[in-house]
Amino acid sequence: MAPGTLGRVVGCLLAGAVGDALGAPVEFVSIDDIRQRYGPDGLTTLLPPGHFTDDTQMTLFTAEALLRAGMELEATGACNPVHLLHRSYLRWLLTQGREIGDLWPDADSEAAMSGGLISEAVLHRVEAPGITCLGALGSGVAGTISTPINDSKGCGGVMRAAPAGLLVPGAELGAAPAEAYHLGCEVAAITHGHRFGFHPAGLLAALVHLIVAGASPAEAYEQARGLAPDDLVELTDAAVALGASGPPSPEAIASELGAGWVGEEALAIALACSVAAPDMSTGLLASVNHSGDTDSTGSICGNLLGSHLGAEAIDRRWVAELDGAVLVRAVGMDIAQWLIERPPADIPDERFARLFRLYGA
Ligand SMILES: [Mg+2]
Repeated sequence: MAPGTLGRVVGCLLAGAVGDALGAPVEFVSIDDIRQRYGPDGLTTLLPPGHFTDDTQMTLFTAEALLRAGMELEATGACNPVHLLHRSYLRWLLTQGREIGDLWPDADSEAAMSGGLISEAVLHRVEAPGITCLGALGSGVAGTISTPINDSKGCGGVMRAAPAGLLVPGAELGAAPAEAYHLGCEVAAITHGHRFGFHPAGLLAALVHLIVAGASPAEAYEQARGLAPDDLVELTDAAVALGASGPPSPEAIASELGAGWVGEEALAIALACSVAAPDMSTGLLASVNHSGDTDSTGSICGNLLGSHLGAEAIDRRWVAELDGAVLVRAVGMDIAQWLIERPPADIPDERFARLFRLYGA
């Protein structure tokens, strides 16, 4: 039976977190060394301690901001997603042990530094956070598409952009792929100023937006590829062709697509491993068995496969062993509640009040 909206939304986040944690132990390890350590098939299961990394942490903070944006739009008729995203990422920066008092633009910073996601211990782990994100956020300035903050095309933008496909303020799932694309670009451009720092994030958001609404990854790609610039599509077309009969080998990933340290390669590898994956585990394992940025490629691949196959398709042992799975699932369920039930702000509604209290400052 095809998964419903709840299963797909939770699956997008939870499979992303599982892929992140699968790939984390081998992020800086070559495929030769991966095979030496774990056998000819490479990594075949989730290793202790089952920690997800900054990819999932920042994805959850993206969700926090965009939930807030949707609720502000409902309550006031207006919202500023970039402002809310930047504030949410400053909250993440605080979890990484950085001082943010000077970066917060108004005096009442107490609310900003407590409550909601920031109280969650698993989000305070320091798991190889991206240098570009730390530096860009530490400047106190939010980059935008038209005013790039730097020239980085690292994959730290695309790795956190999936919620932009779920939470386009005011839009129904599947109805606004161009808006999801634009929002995904805005999410990434806050810290990544190169075109390939943010366009892959736009494409990921559009794909998630369409897949959660019921399109297969291949159908969603056909529909969304026209939103992306030609030089990005050249690589993603190659990725979809490479993965058309199943996830490619580590050697094919390396020679055709790259290592995934930069945005366009990370999305391409995740696409190749998800577009015709026979099942969730096969796709996720392919996305983390290569010489490169395996936690990010695993995370993005999980976002795509989870949106398609739903949370129930994830290996139960991996979910049980994922440290922080309860939190990731809870955020996914809150997003789903927001999308499915649309609790109104204009009459007293406990569901609306609970979500509004919980997500963001
Ligand atoms: Mg990471």
